[in-house]
Amino acid sequence: MIIRPVYDLLLLPEVSYYFKKDFFQGYESEPLETGTDILFLLLKQEKEEPLSIEDFHPIGVSARIEGSSDGETLQIRTCDRVDISDIEISDGQILASAAIRPEIKDLTEEEEKELFRQIRNALLKFVQTYQLGLWVRNFILQRKNINETVCALSDYLNLMAEDKYAILAEDSKKKRYELIREAISEFIEVAKVSEEARSAQKDDQEQLYREAALKKQIDYLQKELDDMHPENVSDVRKFENKIAKAGMNKEAKKEAQKVLNRMRQEGKESHEYGLLYDYLDFVTSLSWKTPRVSPIDLEKAEAILDEEHYGLKKVKERIIQQLAVMALNKKQYGSILLFVGAPGTGKTSIGQSIAKALGRKYVRISLGGIRDEAEIRGHRRTYIGAMPGRIMEGMKRSGVSNPVMVLDEVDKLVKDYGGDPASALLEVLDPEQNNTFTDHYMNVPYDLSNVLFVCTANTTDTIPEPLLNRMEVISFPGYTAVEKFQIARKHLFPKALTAMGIPKEKLALTDEALYKIIDEYTMEAGVRSLKKLLDTLCRTAAVKLVKKEDGDLTVTENNLSEYLGRKQMNHEHKLQDPQPGVVTGLAWTRGGGEILFIESKLTKGKGNLLITGQLGDVMKESVQIALSLVKSLYPEEARKLENQDLHIHVPAGAVPKDGPSAGITLVTALASLLTDKPADPDCAMTGEVSLRGNVMPIGGLPEKLMAAQRAGISRVFIPYENTEDLEDVADEVKDKLEIIPVKKVTDVLGRLL
Ligand code: ADP
Repeated sequence: MIIRPVYDLLLLPEVSYYFKKDFFQGYESEPLETGTDILFLLLKQEKEEPLSIEDFHPIGVSARIEGSSDGETLQIRTCDRVDISDIEISDGQILASAAIRPEIKDLTEEEEKELFRQIRNALLKFVQTYQLGLWVRNFILQRKNINETVCALSDYLNLMAEDKYAILAEDSKKKRYELIREAISEFIEVAKVSEEARSAQKDDQEQLYREAALKKQIDYLQKELDDMHPENVSDVRKFENKIAKAGMNKEAKKEAQKVLNRMRQEGKESHEYGLLYDYLDFVTSLSWKTPRVSPIDLEKAEAILDEEHYGLKKVKERIIQQLAVMALNKKQYGSILLFVGAPGTGKTSIGQSIAKALGRKYVRISLGGIRDEAEIRGHRRTYIGAMPGRIMEGMKRSGVSNPVMVLDEVDKLVKDYGGDPASALLEVLDPEQNNTFTDHYMNVPYDLSNVLFVCTANTTDTIPEPLLNRMEVISFPGYTAVEKFQIARKHLFPKALTAMGIPKEKLALTDEALYKIIDEYTMEAGVRSLKKLLDTLCRTAAVKLVKKEDGDLTVTENNLSEYLGRKQMNHEHKLQDPQPGVVTGLAWTRGGGEILFIESKLTKGKGNLLITGQLGDVMKESVQIALSLVKSLYPEEARKLENQDLHIHVPAGAVPKDGPSAGITLVTALASLLTDKPADPDCAMTGEVSLRGNVMPIGGLPEKLMAAQRAGISRVFIPYENTEDLEDVADEVKDKLEIIPVKKVTDVLGRLL
């Protein structure tokens, strides 16, 4: 008898096992032949030799070699459960006695068969449900009894070594089968759950495949439908196409795709849908294409500028220079031009002509009163009602990436709690930075470097230094009456006629009437009011023409009031009655030039100074300087100031005036007052003064001289250092004025008093 210790093996009586011959190597006390008896001893735990008696369970299994099919594998059939006694171990040889251990036969043969049938059916059902294949089914069907079945499955059952021994050691047949049934049921349950999990996973995957396939089909069908009914193209598809065609940069495309995906997921009912729609609509409406650099035809450009604007010789020259530089550099942009001048002097409209001359789109953005940086740079999309900034909004309006963009009123940006719009604008205009300008709303960079920027302002005073430094200032000095007359004749009046639908030959406007409108109905450096008046005139004429039907109309000096009402402007005209202490000065305002009177008077008092009128701080300082100067020039007469109060007043309009250029006028007024000599009322002056009595240069000379001429003044004192500026003054103004450059205060006083 061969004795073989084994561990963790489910051994039960009357079951066939197959072992390799090697399995018995070292235990061959007899040759391994058919009929040889074998005794299996069960180890309590896995252990290498040397073994001792305590290592063995008390119950073992007897078996017999039944044969070998290939000479290597032995078929062994178990016989009985046996009680082991008298184990001896010497030199690795195990000796033991075994006696059959009787079972408690508490099951009838019938009951045993029934139980076997139940177990087998449960297993077969499991195989069938989960379609485990034919060979598994046969594997089960080949088992002849419960023991064979459980042993065949033992590798799959959830049984520990001691569980396996416990099954063998159970004497009651009923209880043993119960243990077996439990083990098999547990196996079926576990297998079921994992099989379910596996098939669920499979289902998930299948669903994914199915979804993808369906989507493809939907896409295809949708495309067909879209082609048939382009008017019904869904938003998502519409934007998909637009994004594909827009030619956006990488970042922009990525962001747009992200938003599009959100739109797809959220669906039309979502409250976010509108925001997503607006965003996509915005970015896909922008032009992302790099524009073609078209050659600049300077002669044609010149012709267009001349055709659309009368005069403005210097301005046009400077613009043509700019275009020439752009043509040489083959660039779409040049230095940023800043047109400075009074309203209605043609700044914006010449911007429009530049666009026309270059054959490019024109877009105008008004920056007046902007306080919030976000108005330039856009609001972040996290805000409700977020919008792109005005620059990008303008780009969208233009529909191209290289428009001529006129930024109106850059002098009226306001620094406020909303940040500094001027610094945001700087970023827009800076050619170093503006190729990746990022509007907060868009959140992706956009190239503004192909835009030709033109800015306009009434004054440079309120433009922050860094911004002003970026720009090249071109002055629009305003028009003389003759220029206005020409502008009206050549441009404004014909345009007004066309706008009101009046044929040219039906309405005539005499030269005298036109001059009267310019002189008596308007007081401006530009032609804005003039344009409005001509529009009004044509509107009134239109009514008359329709009522009268026949007959043509002629507007003359005499019937002008029928069209425009009574004259509206009371120009400051030169002084009619000269008085000591009153002198005519010249001022520059945002609206152009103006004359002003400085009035001074001595009243009863104790030497106090009283200043009234719309004077700024600088002008108040000028009063002090003038007073000191006059006191030193006229020490004798200045005594009057000791026991009288001096009152200085600057009337004329509600326009606040400031600046040092009234210095000379103040000195003259005070000198006239103290010496009791009236100044010549045909005479006006402008100039800053120093305490030493020097006359220093001032700004806005062309506007001031024009105002003087308009007011009927014939002689004007100007600072000597401003002589060069006379070049910018129209000849017809210069012809009508005697212009006297002066270096010292005394030069004026000597001639006037
Ligand atoms: P600004 O921008 O300086 O306030 P605009 O450009 O709006 O002035 O001009 C006001 C109106 O006067 C426009 O209709 C413009 O065409 C017209 N205008 C101004 N200057 C001229 C000019 N030199 N020749 C022809 N029209 C002019």
